[in-house]
Amino acid sequence: MANSKAENQNSILPFFETDSSALRERVRLWVEQEIASRDRVDGDLEQRAIARVRRLGAGGFLKYAVPEEFGGMRNTVQARDLCLVREELARGDALTDTMFAMQALGSYPITLAGNGAQRDRFLPPTARGECIAAFAITEPVAGSDVASLQTRAVRRGNEFCLTGTKSFISNAGVADCYVVFASTEPEKKSKGISAFLIEAKTPGLVVKEKTELLSPHPIGVIEFADCVVGEDALLGREGKGLQIAFATLDLLRCSVGAAAVGLAQRALDEAVQYSETRRQFGRPIAEFQGIEFKLAEMATELEASRLLVYQAAWAHDCAGDDSAADPRRQGLDRRQHYGKAIPRRARIADL
Ligand SMILES: Cc1cc2nc3c(=O)[nH]c(=O)nc-3n(C[C@H](O)[C@H](O)[C@H](O)COP(=O)(O)OP(=O)(O)OC[C@H]3O[C@@H](n4cnc5c(N)ncnc54)[C@H](O)[C@@H]3O)c2cc1C
Repeated sequence: MANSKAENQNSILPFFETDSSALRERVRLWVEQEIASRDRVDGDLEQRAIARVRRLGAGGFLKYAVPEEFGGMRNTVQARDLCLVREELARGDALTDTMFAMQALGSYPITLAGNGAQRDRFLPPTARGECIAAFAITEPVAGSDVASLQTRAVRRGNEFCLTGTKSFISNAGVADCYVVFASTEPEKKSKGISAFLIEAKTPGLVVKEKTELLSPHPIGVIEFADCVVGEDALLGREGKGLQIAFATLDLLRCSVGAAAVGLAQRALDEAVQYSETRRQFGRPIAEFQGIEFKLAEMATELEASRLLVYQAAWAHDCAGDDSAADPRRQGLDRRQHYGKAIPRRARIADL
């Protein structure tokens, strides 16, 4: 991998109180030594995914997904840390990035709304990479419109009985615990949705399908077939499920952009390396102005994208403002920059 760390560091320093370059450098070195040189494609996807979580835990990186009180790095979980770690992981290995992101996505609802027992039980092992987390809100009929979800949790005395289907659930079949969103009072619509923390081995929680994606990413469909849990599985108060879900997605949203920046950085690194080594007409193709223009444009768009992502993360952490992390802006950003960088790298290499 070509090293363009100097440009990366300069652009994001303004959004961090302390020097962020040490963390970036540590993640990058770790990816190169622990991940990139090892089992990139060999072996069963689920085993590789689990191994990634264990290694992320041993490397200390999952501490950025959990508060200090429960074995994490800082007092509160910071969007900027998640972005920095995800950018570097995605640049090196997409599966490792996915597994890191899922530890944050699946555990942050517990950080936000868990009671003492739930936090003590699940957060420290999540930070050590010993407990694998998942977040289950999407359903076949409820994607963007999550408030229309159909999974029901019916109270029966001190218990709830869950029925319904969740699709596109990352870590389905790999996770040790699932944060599940279900309707406890359907007549209240979005205000009748509650969150539950359910262990994977609970009877009635069935992994129905493992969905194969182009990218290495454990994902599938889970079904709740009369899955009975005690009321101690309730996460936060009844009816507050969507607030917990949206606050979690607000933290993670800009990190999706950061991962896209990491992938685009990798495409640029590869394009630079190829154009410096491929020779035509007696010289490296990087010396032709047409190629230089393409590389310069990629680098400029990537830098603009990176600045937007870290500004959004800073706004979340410091200004309590998620408008910069507006999904429409983030979506635009990802499509414009990541979407352009990869095809350009392919065009330079004539792929
Ligand atoms: C790789 C991957 C991993 C995932 N992991 C998880 C997970 O771990 N847990 C989980 O719960 N879910 C997960 N999901 C599901 C994901 O969150 C949903 O895909 C997402 O919520 C969108 O839902 P949908 O795919 O049903 O698209 P739809 O909601 O059906 O949208 C289809 C299209 O319509 C557009 N659209 C929708 N509404 C509007 C609107 N009002 N205005 C304009 N355009 C609109 C969308 O942008 C999209 O382009 C994952 C998905 C993927 C692809």
